[in-house]
Amino acid sequence: MTKHDVVIIGAGGVGCAVARELSRYNLNITVLEKECDAAGGISGRNSAVVHAGFNNVPGSLMAKLCVEGNRGFETLCRELDIPYKKTGKLLVAFDETDMNALHEIMRQGIRNGCEGLRLVDADEMEKLAPGIGGIGGMYSPETAVFDPFLYCIALAESALENGAVFHFNSEVVAIERNMVKECGGEHTEDCGKEHIGDRFVVKTADGGEYACRFLINCAGLSSGNISKMAGGPAYQIYPCRGEYFILDKVAEELLPMPVYPAPRKGIGGLGVHLTPTTAGNIIIGPSAEYISQIDDLSTTRPIMDDLFAEAKALLPAIERKYIIGSYAGIRPKLAPPEEGGYRDFVIQEEEACPGLINLIGIESPGLTASMPIARKVCSIIGERMPLEEKTDFVAERKGPVRFRDLSEEEQAKLIREDSEFGEIICRCQKVTKREIRNAIENPFGARSISAIKYRAWATTGRCNGGYCLTRIVDMLVNEYGVKPEEITYRSTGSELFSGKVK
Ligand SMILES: Cc1cc2nc3c(=O)[nH]c(=O)nc-3n(C[C@H](O)[C@H](O)[C@H](O)COP(=O)(O)OP(=O)(O)OC[C@H]3O[C@@H](n4cnc5c(N)ncnc54)[C@H](O)[C@@H]3O)c2cc1C
Repeated sequence: MTKHDVVIIGAGGVGCAVARELSRYNLNITVLEKECDAAGGISGRNSAVVHAGFNNVPGSLMAKLCVEGNRGFETLCRELDIPYKKTGKLLVAFDETDMNALHEIMRQGIRNGCEGLRLVDADEMEKLAPGIGGIGGMYSPETAVFDPFLYCIALAESALENGAVFHFNSEVVAIERNMVKECGGEHTEDCGKEHIGDRFVVKTADGGEYACRFLINCAGLSSGNISKMAGGPAYQIYPCRGEYFILDKVAEELLPMPVYPAPRKGIGGLGVHLTPTTAGNIIIGPSAEYISQIDDLSTTRPIMDDLFAEAKALLPAIERKYIIGSYAGIRPKLAPPEEGGYRDFVIQEEEACPGLINLIGIESPGLTASMPIARKVCSIIGERMPLEEKTDFVAERKGPVRFRDLSEEEQAKLIREDSEFGEIICRCQKVTKREIRNAIENPFGARSISAIKYRAWATTGRCNGGYCLTRIVDMLVNEYGVKPEEITYRSTGSELFSGKVK
């Protein structure tokens, strides 16, 4: 059994942000994640929008932390060296009821502290986002888009560099709680203080045992179960699925910014929207459908048809031929189906279970708010024990080169320095062999295809990996000695090969 100040369960955007913020202090931090890499949960399955904060109820944690997260996001992405684009966003009204909803949401946004919100008429809308339908809208200049995969990976790498330890493929299956007397430091029988001991022993499916003073539950859709396992309250999480289409790289041509419908009360999401990604694709979605399983990530024909119809109403230039893929994400809702809408984030140390810090119901805007959420966790721990800041904390993280984003001169220079930059492995996204190698040699040793995909952006184009997948497999097998049967798409259970045909 190993001993830790803090164990974090879950390496999504929230768990990685918490790990990175806590790694500013002299603490022994371990992150346990059941998947093979960061961003394997909800954080890799969303709209990737840095929300401005006008959607949330004034005074709620959601509103406060979203606005705060939005303000710091650009600087954070620069520090982590990951893609971020301040696009602005349009909410579109089709009739007077929608216009009234926009007036209301703008008032709410102003109360929340959102900057620059303004109503626009159809003419201005046409200038901001040509070809968008509707009679008028609301414009939010502070909304942005970012890369959620690289966000989680970069936070995790930053935490790792600053001393946090990550265990992937480590599913937490049991938590023992020790009833210890608690104090802030050296404990003696007669010190008269309480002793903070190893309050929890966290057990993983691979046989690991991790004792810790603070257990931080960032387990997303499983956070209700983890709380119960640790002896905390049994929160009920209601999974609510959102399905999406991915379109080819037509954003530059068709969509400069996210476009949403005017909000309608009671639905479990923000309505079907069109969002340009930092890579130039467009995503359409998400739907909002309460489901019974937390891992049912299917996309379904009727919903796909509805999504397309709704997207077409917002942007008539959208065509089916642009579709290159689909995916689904699941919201970990605290609001049951009969209530709908949103309940506020729960971020607290449980009174009945000292040391257990629960983060429950972290649905949208959870990624936007992830850094303020992490700071809140630090301050909860700071109230219980002195936190000593490291003098050698490294805030900047340098991401690998993205060949396709460079000028021709810069590309030519790289090829002269390293011939692997001259070999294109993923044709759709122009990803070079050197970038694939950098992705394979990531600091976590994550070797799945998805780990390579999210780091290098290979396999994400129109051919869906038809060209580059075999080349990546060849590299893994011939240059890294991985057996073909060991290669997985994501975690165990998604093996690509079962044996030789000839
Ligand atoms: C459809 C949709 C659209 C969204 N759009 C946006 C948006 O545009 N902008 C925005 O800011 N937010 C958005 N969100 C919200 C955002 O994605 C989430 O709030 C955020 O990703 C939550 O991060 P997390 O780390 O809490 O959860 P997750 O990313 O799910 O991380 C939890 C991790 O815990 C791990 N885990 C679970 N159980 C165990 C266990 N027993 N042992 C070990 N590990 C375990 C999981 O594998 C997972 O990796 C959206 C969400 C959805 C579903």
